[in-house]
Amino acid sequence: MITIVRHVLDDVQDHARADAPRECCGLLVGTAERIVDSVRAANLHEGTTRFLIDPRDHVRAIRDSRARQLDVVGFYHSHPRSPAYPSETDVAESGYAGALHLIVGVGTQGPERRLFRIDGTKVTEVAFSLTDQGQGTGRGSGTREQGSEIRDQRSEVRDQGQDIGDKGPETGLRRRLTNDQ
Ligand SMILES: [Zn+2]
Repeated sequence: MITIVRHVLDDVQDHARADAPRECCGLLVGTAERIVDSVRAANLHEGTTRFLIDPRDHVRAIRDSRARQLDVVGFYHSHPRSPAYPSETDVAESGYAGALHLIVGVGTQGPERRLFRIDGTKVTEVAFSLTDQGQGTGRGSGTREQGSEIRDQRSEVRDQGQDIGDKGPETGLRRRLTNDQ
């Protein structure tokens, strides 16, 4: 059983809606048991029925994931019109045996999210559960979380500046410096 942190599905869904009627695509980041983040990638295919992840986005996602002690564990893409099941093209073009494939259907039936492994020509659906726990620091909604962390740090710095200011003669300079940050 794979666990997916809930915001990942929200992010992928948002991406799918934004790019429709084209297919969106991206990377899934996490561990063998848990998908904690998604990273948007450019779809190099012009059409509306297939996707090709920009290799530069793929490489960057691998590098960023490693820096967080995580891995790129799979891929996601959308099916703007068809059900969330791997197409013949998806099966034919899936390299990376063992990778997870999240497919989001955004047709009139409402959102449909399904997870698969594709091994050669064999498609296996993978059960998953959702959790609210987990930190997101990638792109998508993770970016917003990162932004607020940075703002929090800044306000801490300002508070420290004022503490120093009450204690010593360097007040003015320190306060200007910290305020500039
Ligand atoms: Zn597909």
